[in-house]
Amino acid sequence: MTMDTIVSLCKRRGFIFQSSEIYGGAGSCWDYGPLGVELKNNIKRVWWRDTVHLRPDMVGLDASILMHPTVWKASGHVDHFSDPMVDCRACRRRFRADKLDETPWVHFCPTKTDARFDVPAGEPCRHCGARRTLCPECGKGELTPPRQFNLMFKTYTGPVEEDAALTYLRPETAQGIFVNFDNVLQSMRLKLPFGIAQIGKSFRNEITPGNFIFRTREFEQMEIEFFVNPNETIDGRPADEVWHERWIEERLAWYHRYGIRPENLRVREHEKEELAHYAKRTADIEYRFPIGWSELEGIANRTDYDLKQHARFSGKSLTYFDEERKTHVVPYVIEPSAGADRSLLAFLVDAYREEEVRGEKRVVLRLHQDIAPTKIAVLPLLKKRGEIVATAHEIRSLLARWWVTVYDDTAAIGRLYRRQDEVGTPYCVTVDVQTVGDVDKGEAGDQRVTIRDRDSMQQIRVPIAELPTVFRQLLDGGTWQQVGGRYGIGG
Ligand SMILES: [Zn+2]
Ligand SMILES: [Zn+2]
Repeated sequence: MTMDTIVSLCKRRGFIFQSSEIYGGAGSCWDYGPLGVELKNNIKRVWWRDTVHLRPDMVGLDASILMHPTVWKASGHVDHFSDPMVDCRACRRRFRADKLDETPWVHFCPTKTDARFDVPAGEPCRHCGARRTLCPECGKGELTPPRQFNLMFKTYTGPVEEDAALTYLRPETAQGIFVNFDNVLQSMRLKLPFGIAQIGKSFRNEITPGNFIFRTREFEQMEIEFFVNPNETIDGRPADEVWHERWIEERLAWYHRYGIRPENLRVREHEKEELAHYAKRTADIEYRFPIGWSELEGIANRTDYDLKQHARFSGKSLTYFDEERKTHVVPYVIEPSAGADRSLLAFLVDAYREEEVRGEKRVVLRLHQDIAPTKIAVLPLLKKRGEIVATAHEIRSLLARWWVTVYDDTAAIGRLYRRQDEVGTPYCVTVDVQTVGDVDKGEAGDQRVTIRDRDSMQQIRVPIAELPTVFRQLLDGGTWQQVGGRYGIGG
């Protein structure tokens, strides 16, 4: 499966659209459609539930995107958050100097006339043996020497565009947590170790964004800053190192729990020279995307760097009083930093299956039920029968009080099932003639409906009155075999 398969499904079925598409699109900006927003909200909701609500050692925060500009001096972003860039003197395109040899390049070979070749990334010309020195896109222009280009989006607060009003759209949510460390500590009377979690938008003026929602200039982060007492040990080892390992395990388990296959996940340790200047150790959780193994989440030990920097620049004390040792300490920070958009892409890619069912292709998203955008679809077998349609609408209204439930009668039942499979709806409810009976023939309905399971395509017949109970069991961890078994599973 390629990224194009996913991009096309996302557009066709209302998950993700290109931003400003009617104007030709805005580069690497994407809009989440009706199903995409449900899917993304579900991912954020389960992350928040598992990270904040289910843990006794965690609290939440929602800091503002615009902050005091000195925050970014203290964090190092003003001085260090930049990429080396080169420009083509002919076509004016701009490239990251350190990524030049990772893209294919255009070459006009001197050994041939009118020969324009696309040479694979990092390889020399097969004919003359030359390596790329010119612009990889136009193949003609010379490149300027590298210059540092800061990745933060600049903006101005207030009506005057002057340097005094200059600030930035935050490039990470983390700093909003660090500058609130003391507020949260004091107001919530917390004891180390504890974490502060936050979900929010961040902005980076990436020079080479791309690969759909994998790398975008505006993105949503799900970040935890977990504060640990560096003087403590656990089983004779520094507490920060033990907590770092625990978080790597926990985050890996989280992706497994919501359906990502273990063989598509791996942990990659950062090399010494790759580590950020503040980091003691960083491990990435990588996912096998259609573009290859790439970072899904980074888990860094940021040490006491950020709190110390903010203490220095603000003149405020950002310490914790260690009652046991009667000393003030600056906590160490373990930071599991996940991307909501990237997670969504990984969940989509991993759930995507093409199956053969009775000689026909079935596309199915085997999304975990907690993150599936729609939980239940109610479908009338015949849309010409008024009682069937009315009953289906009633069932939809009933179930929609607890779960995202849709009604669809725009095709024959086989088509309707396929459409729900393709967007990952775990269960369909079908209302048929038997349900409502036939008034003309004097037959009473049995007030039962069919529930169809997405993954097995098996069916059970359930009294309408029992639907809330059955779905409460099915959608709260019960298996189809357990719950469906009581009603006699059929094919
Ligand atoms: Zn060029
Ligand atoms: Zn050549």
